[in-house]
Amino acid sequence: AKKSRRGSFVMFSSEMGSDIRERVRLLQSLRSAVESERLFIVYQPQINLNSGKVVGMEALIRWRNEDGTFVPPDRFIPLAEASGMIVAIGDWVLRMACHELVRLQALGLADLRMSVNVSQIQFRHPEFLDKLNAALLDTGISPRCLELEITESVAMEDADFMLETLHLVRELGISIAIDDFGTGYSSLSQLRQLPIDRLKIDRAFVSEIQDGASGGHIASMVIELGRNLNLTVIAEGIEDEKQAQRLRELGCHEGQGYLYARPMTPPLLKEWLQARDH
Ligand code: C2E
Ligand code: CA
Ligand code: CA
Ligand code: CA
Repeated sequence: AKKSRRGSFVMFSSEMGSDIRERVRLLQSLRSAVESERLFIVYQPQINLNSGKVVGMEALIRWRNEDGTFVPPDRFIPLAEASGMIVAIGDWVLRMACHELVRLQALGLADLRMSVNVSQIQFRHPEFLDKLNAALLDTGISPRCLELEITESVAMEDADFMLETLHLVRELGISIAIDDFGTGYSSLSQLRQLPIDRLKIDRAFVSEIQDGASGGHIASMVIELGRNLNLTVIAEGIEDEKQAQRLRELGCHEGQGYLYARPMTPPLLKEWLQARDH
């Protein structure tokens, strides 16, 4: 399939024909999943690597079929993007996540940040800023507690438009993290122009840190880059203490991964946070 600049699929090549029926089927079931509310959100805590304290969480979408099986987001998000459904789904995720944070704060779990993934189609939608504003107003969440995660490739594309929108988002008080950092090809000069707060090291580079001292060269470079630009650096996909230790030594500020917690449903998250007394 050929991708247009806006990311929608504009044509299919013939060799992909067999794939089309499968896509159409998945798209139809995604529609009905949305209608029958079979989408839900799980939250994965983010930790300050030095203090061990919880600093926030990332909202991650889940789709459970009627038969109890799950469709992974890596499979249906691209489809939701291609069909434009991501605009409504993304807006729903944003609102749910804001509501969840307000509920946690009401329980006395203060000073937490909520990170929400925003796809490029959603971010570039003409009504995105209005929807963002409406979500802030309707949920009463403090913009300082909200963070948007956009991928490196998105941030670098169409620089003028992105710069303007990113500035407007930040003027609202919302912070911005660059997701999957290290997988794209942004230059230092491009990066330093962007009004951002955080770099997120992709889990592929964290998993390279195997035996402590060696490996993790890209992680190490990203951390140094981030620190030089006065950005906070967070590593995702931390699965063992050796990786955490190495990241700490390299000066990485924050982390998230199975070592600390899996993504959790709201009741489990609440229990986990209260037990930990962040
Ligand atoms: P991502 O934003 O890079 O999210 C990180 C992924 O790593 C998540 O997968 C998370 O569950 C997983 N993960 C976290 N810790 C560990 C770990 O220690 N080990 C391993 N092996 N994996 C870990 P998930 O939830 O399947 O999401 C996949 C991707 O789908 C996300 O990648 C993101 O790009 C997209 N996605 C998820 N939710 C949303 C959403 O609400 N909106 C949009 N636009 N995209 C979303
Ligand atoms: Ca993310
Ligand atoms: Ca991603
Ligand atoms: Ca990633």
